[in-house]
Amino acid sequence: MCQMALLQEVLAYNARFLAERQRPITNLPAKKVAVFTCMDTRLVEFLEPAMGIRRGDAKVIKNAGATLSDPAGDVVRSLAVAIFALGCEEVFVIGHHDCGMTRIDEDDLRHRMLRRGVSQEAIASLQPGLRQWLSAFTDPAENVRRVVSELRRNPLIPADVPVHGLLVEPASGRLDLLVDGYREAAPASRG
Ligand SMILES: [Zn+2]
Repeated sequence: MCQMALLQEVLAYNARFLAERQRPITNLPAKKVAVFTCMDTRLVEFLEPAMGIRRGDAKVIKNAGATLSDPAGDVVRSLAVAIFALGCEEVFVIGHHDCGMTRIDEDDLRHRMLRRGVSQEAIASLQPGLRQWLSAFTDPAENVRRVVSELRRNPLIPADVPVHGLLVEPASGRLDLLVDGYREAAPASRG
């Protein structure tokens, strides 16, 4: 099945990208993919070329850490639009090494918020707590695996949509595969 090729195609492209380290000129067909990744500025204009994704190929959803805090929240809403309204057929969850979400110091952040005029009540109202509200994590790979697993089980994401998990090295652009979504996806059942 042709669907089997896209993940391997991205990884093979990434290997060539690393070897060539130049702006890619690709002949790959447009990819119907949704990419969920971190808002880290080192990934801007870097992750897509490292994947062989051109402007217009992918719907890219970003937040702090590529974290999923609500099974029906903004991220899943955007993925649902990407899949059901915009024709995306696969989801790539891409975390990265050296993510700032691993260095969140809850007490320090609380003090910074208070100093900038955020009220104690507003902070106290965050459930179940500030750190959990931020979805801070200690291991980017573990976060990616958790997000992939939660998306895989999410009733709003069709079972036949592969959800892949990868980590990108923000200095070199190297992609490491954590979860091959083709293994978990159900056979296509469209129409
Ligand atoms: Zn990050």
